[in-house]
Amino acid sequence: MGSKIAVIGSGISGIAVAARLAARGHEVVVFEKNSFPGGKLSEIRAGEFRFDAGPSLFTMPQWVDDVFVSCSESPRDFFNYKPLPVLCKYFWNNGKKLEFSADLDTAAKRLEEDFGEDRGALSKYLKKSRKKYDLVGEIFLKKPLNQWSTWWDQKTIKSLFQIFEFELFSTLNAANKRFFNSGEIVQLFNRYATYNGSNPYRISGMFSMIPHIEMNRGAYAPEGGMIAITNSLVELGKRCGVEYQFGTLVSEILVKDSRVTGIRLKDGGEMYFDRIISNMDIKLTYEKLLPDCPPPAKLKYEERSSSGFIFYWGIKREFPELDVHNIFFSENYPAEFNAIEKGEIADDLTVYVNITSKYNPTDAPRGMENWFVMVNVPGDRGHDWVKMRAKIRKRVIRKLNKNLGLDIESQIVSEEVMDPTGLARRTLSADGALYGSSSNNMWAAFLRQFNRHSGIKNLYFCGGSVHPGGGIPLCLSSAEIVDKMIGEETF
Ligand SMILES: Cc1cc2nc3c(=O)[nH]c(=O)nc-3n(C[C@H](O)[C@H](O)[C@H](O)COP(=O)(O)OP(=O)(O)OC[C@H]3O[C@@H](n4cnc5c(N)ncnc54)[C@H](O)[C@@H]3O)c2cc1C
Repeated sequence: MGSKIAVIGSGISGIAVAARLAARGHEVVVFEKNSFPGGKLSEIRAGEFRFDAGPSLFTMPQWVDDVFVSCSESPRDFFNYKPLPVLCKYFWNNGKKLEFSADLDTAAKRLEEDFGEDRGALSKYLKKSRKKYDLVGEIFLKKPLNQWSTWWDQKTIKSLFQIFEFELFSTLNAANKRFFNSGEIVQLFNRYATYNGSNPYRISGMFSMIPHIEMNRGAYAPEGGMIAITNSLVELGKRCGVEYQFGTLVSEILVKDSRVTGIRLKDGGEMYFDRIISNMDIKLTYEKLLPDCPPPAKLKYEERSSSGFIFYWGIKREFPELDVHNIFFSENYPAEFNAIEKGEIADDLTVYVNITSKYNPTDAPRGMENWFVMVNVPGDRGHDWVKMRAKIRKRVIRKLNKNLGLDIESQIVSEEVMDPTGLARRTLSADGALYGSSSNNMWAAFLRQFNRHSGIKNLYFCGGSVHPGGGIPLCLSSAEIVDKMIGEETF
């Protein structure tokens, strides 16, 4: 028999778990404080320009497809995507440039001819990256860590015996230097630490598995932009019977005799549910929704991931020299991460420019482009973001002018901004962290909050701030883990 389930939040993880559970016959209601779904995976419109608000890089699309399949629907009836031929364009202050082709032989040739790397270095690196992913990825990313069955599984035991392969005890920077000689290419592979809001000079070498996901498996462009992921999953949910209540803030999870009984809404109304799944940032779930339940000690010490400062610019001309994903690297990468850890920003910043109008032309008027321009910044610690905005904008423009050889400011016809406080308000993400907690601590990946509360029956957690972590694929994985947990329970 299906149970009555409340999902708090319509982030990617919340909408995925809601659809999965409704398809199993549960009565599911999603409560979302915003008038729109998606949380970080939502969109912003400015005149005739459309921007994806947060995530821009789409990897592991089959994990989105899996949600449709688990609901006995065909993904292609809802949602489509195509592989990107160029993964990213890179620019350095010294004038060097690299178009990183999705064709890895072409990419390896460029690394050899333009950066003096061995022709075989890339494939050796990616072989190792794949091995780490195969050992760790499918086991730890797809399973709950608070179940004995995960740890006693033969595959897990086999992986643990090969722990030396993980490079757990060296940093990502050190692991990358073992394969590449040129400072630029080491920097390029160090960048993958930012995919979970971490610092390449502290995060474990284990994370050199991330390039495997993008380079061996590819990066994709969803038809209609990243927002199509959110919209299609919401449509799927509706088809499976999910009820969405937008503009509805949940203010408390009701608990009696160590068991959830329902939720309280901001207007004071109470609703009764058998199970509750919180897709709200775990830190805030404890702070705001569970006032009588002390948070686990480890949550207090968890280091938050970095945040982002984003400009959404309407640009009045096209730039054929740019692609969908573009990175303009800073000259001193360690200084940039040191500054973030001190709560500051470096003088020379790495700037990311994403242009979806390159593959989704309706995102900008003809002959123009929609630029999502982001730099990594510290999470909000009471900064004066108005002052910071002026400083960051000046540095970003200086960087782009130098690399593109023109006055970029004169090309901007519209501007929207998202700072860490804006991000925190829009998605209720503590400190405006992009990915929940950082993975700077060597064990952080294994120490994230589990997906089920150990003391309160029928309370579950999903999303970027809990196991297995942030980013669209991992959020989908946490949805799958919670779905399976509930599926295995007798109610
Ligand atoms: C700028 C930026 C760039 C990123 N880039 C990438 C990328 O390129 N690729 C990638 O894979 N990932 C990227 N990420 C990370 C990715 O976006 C997130 O990990 C993921 O979208 C988080 O999803 P979630 O399910 O945790 O929910 P969230 O997106 O955090 O949404 C939570 C939702 O719950 C709602 N909510 C919270 N509390 C309540 C409450 N009490 N009552 C009602 N509603 C509530 C919020 O309003 C929000 O809508 C990026 C993130 C950001 C911010």
